[in-house]
Amino acid sequence: MKECLFCKIVSGEIPSTKVHEDEQLIAFRDVNPQAPTHVLIIPRRHIERLTDLSESEAELIGQMQLSANKIAEQEGIVSGGFRTVFNCGEGAGQSVWHIHMHLLGGRPMHWPPG
Ligand code: AMP
Repeated sequence: MKECLFCKIVSGEIPSTKVHEDEQLIAFRDVNPQAPTHVLIIPRRHIERLTDLSESEAELIGQMQLSANKIAEQEGIVSGGFRTVFNCGEGAGQSVWHIHMHLLGGRPMHWPPG
């Protein structure tokens, strides 16, 4: 998608601090971190929102969590606890219309989230 910010990060048109990339996914640091570790894991393919996922993309979502687990290990945030979050829709705070998993850690997490 030409005008999608995260598609531009995938193509390299917009720079990012990548922590992981593979055939399906890339992961990079959030520009406005909400925790000492705040990484976004996104599919290379443009999918606007979670509710656009099809059955064939079930594995992709699993791969996103497995990547988050590995990055959490690399970042040293497993023992302290970490959180993975998808925001779906404006009411949930989604501001970029290309699905992304937030990986947050490195500080105590509170519940319920804001
Ligand atoms: P959400 O509000 O769930 O849609 O999350 C979008 C996230 O993208 C926010 O946490 C932003 O800080 C982050 N973000 C926006 N632009 C960039 C960028 N150019 N590089 C890295 N993260 C970004």
